[in-house]
Amino acid sequence: MIIKDLTIPIRIILDTALSRRLPRNHPKQKDIAEDLTKRQAGFKGEKNLRYYLDLLPKEEYLIFFDLNLTVNNYSFQIDALVITSNMVLILEVKNFSGTLFFEPIFNQFIRKNNNKAEGFPNPIIQAQRQRSLLIKWFKEHGIQAFPVDYLIVISHSSTILETSNEPSSISQKVLHAEKVVSKILELSNQYKKKLNPTRLSNSLQKLHSPPIPNILESFAIEKNEIIKGIECSQCHSYSMKRDHGAWICPACNFISIDAHKQAIFDYFLLISDTITNQQCRDFLSISNRKTIHRVLSSMNLRSSTYEKGKKKIYYRPDIHWINKNHCLN
Ligand SMILES: [Zn+2]
Repeated sequence: MIIKDLTIPIRIILDTALSRRLPRNHPKQKDIAEDLTKRQAGFKGEKNLRYYLDLLPKEEYLIFFDLNLTVNNYSFQIDALVITSNMVLILEVKNFSGTLFFEPIFNQFIRKNNNKAEGFPNPIIQAQRQRSLLIKWFKEHGIQAFPVDYLIVISHSSTILETSNEPSSISQKVLHAEKVVSKILELSNQYKKKLNPTRLSNSLQKLHSPPIPNILESFAIEKNEIIKGIECSQCHSYSMKRDHGAWICPACNFISIDAHKQAIFDYFLLISDTITNQQCRDFLSISNRKTIHRVLSSMNLRSSTYEKGKKKIYYRPDIHWINKNHCLN
């Protein structure tokens, strides 16, 4: 049973908003586009894994995607975690194409593609590190010591896996996504002791805390480089003005009732997780305080007051809610 389902990665939502709010010829557009392509490929790989994991018997297998946990103030991320009554399994997903060479003597991980060899961090070492952090996390939260195992899942079936002839356990740890179900069933039979996973499952749901990256910092972009204003969905200029309770584009005369929403959500995604009337007026390039009060109030955002109730501050809704309800793509 999938307990925590796969959701669109927050970085994809943020990258998309950032690209939209920068001039087309901005020098960082290329970096953002590359990052977006890489993350979309990763998401596709995870969706492929999800398809197979969903085939596991529902009652016995609890599945969590994209867990972010913290131990000793250090946070770590797990692509997918499978829990049964006798083991916990970490799945690290890799989306490389070409040929992957796991070299066991120096523990190197090399990708060969188009006659080019490139080294990457070894996913086996990454997974072993996640395993030791998860065991520490169990201890920190007083959770029974489940046996923890790990697998490296290669999402493309066309990726060729190679290792040397040295005796090693690599072939037991690295596999293509389509083999993951049979491997999990096989592993599950190796652990005999029965434990109750309910407490672990509840703690994982409660203590998972996804970090919201500061996207401007990630790309070394200053706040003043972000385009202000309300975007016209027809001609993509950022100059919509208020007219008789609606937004009108002076460039193409397009009229919208709720064009302000995307601008306010972009502020939440790119600039800050809170907004005041003044910050909103500045970002939307609208000088009328009452208009901004009206649109902010109409959005049902969580808010609080300060300066003895005279000023109001509005809070960012959940990012996945923003993405789902306002189709920011
Ligand atoms: Zn327009």
